[in-house]
Amino acid sequence: MAYYVGVDLGATNVRAAVADGEGTILGRSDAGTPRGPTGITVTEAVLSVTRGACDAAGIDPSEARAAGIGAIGPLDLAEGVVENPANLPDTIDRIPLTGPLSNLLETDRVYLHNDTNAGVIGERFHSERNPDDMVYLTISSGVGAGVCVDGNVLSGWDGNAGEVGHMTLDPHGFMTCGCGHEGHWEGYCSGNNIPRYAAELHAEDPVETALPVEDPDFSAVDVFEHAGRDEFADHVIDQVAYWNAMGVANIVHAFAPLIVFVGGAVALNNPELTLDPIREHLPDMVMSNIPQLELTTLGDDVVLKGAIASALTAGTGDRSRM
Ligand SMILES: [Zn+2]
Repeated sequence: MAYYVGVDLGATNVRAAVADGEGTILGRSDAGTPRGPTGITVTEAVLSVTRGACDAAGIDPSEARAAGIGAIGPLDLAEGVVENPANLPDTIDRIPLTGPLSNLLETDRVYLHNDTNAGVIGERFHSERNPDDMVYLTISSGVGAGVCVDGNVLSGWDGNAGEVGHMTLDPHGFMTCGCGHEGHWEGYCSGNNIPRYAAELHAEDPVETALPVEDPDFSAVDVFEHAGRDEFADHVIDQVAYWNAMGVANIVHAFAPLIVFVGGAVALNNPELTLDPIREHLPDMVMSNIPQLELTTLGDDVVLKGAIASALTAGTGDRSRM
C-alpha cells in the first residue's frame, strides 16, 4: 500500500497526518507550535508530529511515498524553508522544512506551499465542485488567498502570490496593517484586527455600546457575540463585511474564479455573518461574472487535507495527476 504524509504548520499548532492512496486519513498527530528558541525547534516539532502520525497509522516513516506541507509564510521555496515568520517570536528566523522531512521520510517528493495554496489544493482535490478557476480565501488571524487559474495553482515569486490581505482597500488608510502599511484589507478584517478596528471606530464616534472596546482582552469574538443585540457591534460587522466584499470583488476581477471557498476561524465561527453580506454586496461591485461563495467543505482540516492532496498529486491538487 502507498502512504502519503500531510503537514500543517500554523502559528498556533503543528499537525501531521498519514493517508492512503485515496487521501483517507489513517493516523494523525498534533502539538502546539513551539515559540522558539530557534527555527530548528519548530523543525523538530514538525518531525515529531510526523513520526507521531506514522506511529498512529502503524507505518515506518520510510514507507511514505510523498509529503505535502502547508506552512505559514513567508517562504523561500527554493530553499524549502519558512523565513522570518510574521506571527512567531523574532528569535525564530528560519525554519527548515523540505530537507529535514525528505531525510525523515527518505523521499525527494516533498512539496512545500504556503497555507492558503495548500487550502486551494485541498478544495481542488476533495470538493465535488472543483473547476479549473477557483479560490480559497482564509479570514483568520490574517487574510490571504490560494488561487487556481486555468488549472494552475499560482505560486509567484518566492511563493508569495495570493497575499490579498495586503491589497490596499482604503486609500485614506484609516487602519495600519500588521505589516506596517496603511489601508490594507487585513488591517480591518482579520481576527486580530477586527477589535482594533472597532476600537478606532468607537474612538471617532463614542456611541453607547456593550462592547468592551477599552478592555485589553477585547476580541473579535465579543463583536460577533453582540450581533443583533448591540447597534455598534452591528455597525462594526457591517463595515467589516463591506471591506470583505470589496476584497473579494478585487479577487474576482483579477482571477475570474467560478467559486470562492472561504475558511479561517473568523469565517468558520461566523459563517452567516461573514458570507451572507459579501454575497449581497458583490452584484454592486463586480462588473463580470459573480462567482459562487461557499464556506470551505474541509473545515479546520483544510490545510492539512490540502497538504495530503499535494502529496498525492505531485503538488497540484489535480486528481488526474495521481
Ligand atoms: Zn498589510
